Amino acid sequence: MAKTKPSVAFIGTGIMGAPIAGHILDAGYPLTVYNRTRAKAEGLIGRGAVWADTPAAAVADADVVFTMLGYPTDVEEVYLAGDGVLAAAKEGAVLIDLTTSSPELARDIAEAAEVTGKHAFDCPVTGGEQGAVNGTLTLIVGATEHDIEPVRGLLETFGSTIRCFGGPGKGQAAKLANQVALSASMVGMADALSLAQQCGLDLEQTREMICSGTGRSGAMESLAPAALEGDFKPGFKVEHFLKDLGLALALAEEKEIALPGADTAFTLYDMLEAIGGGALGTQAITLLYQEEADAVAAGLDWSLYRGADAEEDGCGCGHDHGDDGHDHAHDHGGDGHECCGGHGHHHGHGASGE
Ligand code: NAP
Repeated sequence: MAKTKPSVAFIGTGIMGAPIAGHILDAGYPLTVYNRTRAKAEGLIGRGAVWADTPAAAVADADVVFTMLGYPTDVEEVYLAGDGVLAAAKEGAVLIDLTTSSPELARDIAEAAEVTGKHAFDCPVTGGEQGAVNGTLTLIVGATEHDIEPVRGLLETFGSTIRCFGGPGKGQAAKLANQVALSASMVGMADALSLAQQCGLDLEQTREMICSGTGRSGAMESLAPAALEGDFKPGFKVEHFLKDLGLALALAEEKEIALPGADTAFTLYDMLEAIGGGALGTQAITLLYQEEADAVAAGLDWSLYRGADAEEDGCGCGHDHGDDGHDHAHDHGGDGHECCGGHGHHHGHGASGE
């Protein structure tokens, strides 16, 4: 008799979650989905996924639960609320968080899960929207090879490379290291294109030359083409990158080390978000180097940037922190926005941040 496949719940069907859940569905797993905005799950429902009205209803009968949410605050809410995933999942269920989130929160969730007879691990991903669509993501796992054995087949439906880092939170820490590497290459990409432009070089030719030699990077290979075409839609949102860099810089502070590359990138992306670019793709960093008209055409507004005024007020970050839905007081991100070269680095957003 054929063995029935484990039932799967998937919460968070956005840019990354929807195609990942699609691969799980295509591989024949019974799938229940929930997302804050139902419209983003309709494509999956049309292909046979079952809709649930709440996270609790989604996970009640699931053997395996995936979450792919925006921010640590979303993860906290979905897992740890009284009617959240931890309380509602059945005993023995495996809970896998794909969100890029806080290592500390991942450890908290894993511990709480064990207490209630469930198993949870962090599994952030890299490879971008294209990797999710193609099912070729790299999975960065906060568990051992042994731990993931029961769900390996399921993970392989959307991941072509699986790296296990050994224990809860370590997947998130490794993913943050990846984001630190990415941040410096994004700044390098934008710096190089700006210099080439000012020298009157052919930008596509310059980009191709760089990609053929030691200056190449994922940023130059995959994101510069969109920037050069004036395509700034996400992909990977600026506000999510800021969240990641905030988490990485908070971790660096905890370890008492400096990350000057990531710090520079944080400052630039903070500026981009302050002028209205939070929902654009990360390639929009190139707009900071362009004439104001290009920024306006992309929907940005430099009058929102209050760097100079704010500096006089004792805050040099140029970011209006009061009204943009960010949760700068999130437990898992650090201890306060300091500004002036010392960003608080805990850019955890509230659920209203998008
Ligand atoms: P996204 O499109 O904003 O997807 C996040 C989804 O989570 C949204 O559909 C959102 O609902 C849903 N959500 C948030 N809070 C929820 C809650 N409390 N209950 C139910 N659903 C909730 O973002 P994404 O690009 O897919 O990224 C997801 C995560 O992966 C982020 O942590 C990001 O940093 C990381 N990541 C992204 C990429 C990339 O290239 N995009 C690559 C690697 C990792 P709504 O539809 O209502 O907003």
